[in-house]
Amino acid sequence: MSLTTQIKEFALDIGYSKVGIIPAESFPEYIADLTDRHEMYSFYIKGPSRPLVAAEPRSLMPTAKSIITTVYDYAQKSFPKELTDKIGRVYQARCYNAPDERINGARPQLMREFLRKLGCEVGDKINLPERLVAAKAGIVNYGRNNFAYAEGIGSFIYLTSFVVDIELDYDSPTVEVGCPEGCSACMKACPTQAIYEPLKLNPRRCIAFNTFITQDRMVGSHIEPEIREKMGTKVHGCDICQEVCPRNQTRLKEKLLDDEFLVKVAQDFSLSQMLNMTDEFYSTRIQPLMYNYIKERKYFQRNAAIALGNLGDPAFVPNLAVAMNDPEDLVRGYAAWALGKIGSRSAKQILKDNLSKETTESVIEEIRNALFRSEIRGELIDFS
Ligand code: SF4
Ligand code: SF4
Repeated sequence: MSLTTQIKEFALDIGYSKVGIIPAESFPEYIADLTDRHEMYSFYIKGPSRPLVAAEPRSLMPTAKSIITTVYDYAQKSFPKELTDKIGRVYQARCYNAPDERINGARPQLMREFLRKLGCEVGDKINLPERLVAAKAGIVNYGRNNFAYAEGIGSFIYLTSFVVDIELDYDSPTVEVGCPEGCSACMKACPTQAIYEPLKLNPRRCIAFNTFITQDRMVGSHIEPEIREKMGTKVHGCDICQEVCPRNQTRLKEKLLDDEFLVKVAQDFSLSQMLNMTDEFYSTRIQPLMYNYIKERKYFQRNAAIALGNLGDPAFVPNLAVAMNDPEDLVRGYAAWALGKIGSRSAKQILKDNLSKETTESVIEEIRNALFRSEIRGELIDFS
């Protein structure tokens, strides 16, 4: 059996659904695209992934000869409906950059060990443009929503590649859009119009970006009020442009087995608990799924406050009143925004009470804006 076949069969054996291989050459089209949209993507270009450097794999690994790329189908079990309107499926599936000690982190580790046993040097921390790599290796094509689609699976997939120093047999590319002609359902469904043309996303408008990249250590923690309104109950990620896609309907309508772990998480997951979370809730209900981007609880609390505000239910006013006493300015500010969204008599009273004792300027501004908006809304209702 050839080395290429041995590698591909091992990858399939440990749970990957597709494997392809390409030469470890540079990706000039990716570099050009990212450079063209430098302003939108500056947070990523300047970040630790160093995508423009990694797009020339031999600059990081001079011995690189081949890239082995894999598709992992992360929607093999069902996702509880109590979670899908709040948390993206890829995070529920615990496969996004999973740590080595978790099952989805062990799989790439097994792959690396196998390649090393074959005598390969395996590259480390080379953050390749995974979608382009997989399309060049013929295992995915593109959707106009910017996601990669694998034949027979859809876009609920996670791509991982391995750079090695041996020559292998290479696959033919499928760098193309695989969508039905005339379809633009994803672009129409996106609540923020983040997909501004086919295959072009403005990350700053994307709800997923706003749930987890808006942190002080990245782009700052402020979320524009216009975007907050459109986040609905999303607290980590957004799947809307994949949910509406005809290419995902077979999988979405399939009757799949429950993921018993997610069933347990869903049983006691709530936005109000997330807003004022205990250490136990954080360690057992947040971290096991949302371990990747956010390391500080205040960002989860902010997102929960936005979600509760968007629900608009006065039943959450007491939870938001508790959050108005949170030690974090960020949490108090977004709780104020949410109270303004709810706008009930008790919500307004809590805002007024807190305005007189609040000392942080940014929170005072949120309270003032929240009161202004709820007063205006109240007047509009009175006149109608
Ligand atoms: S993930 Fe959500 S916000 Fe982002 S492009 Fe898709 S539908 Fe729009
Ligand atoms: S919704 Fe339509 S245009 Fe968008 S990715 Fe799916 S098939 Fe393509």
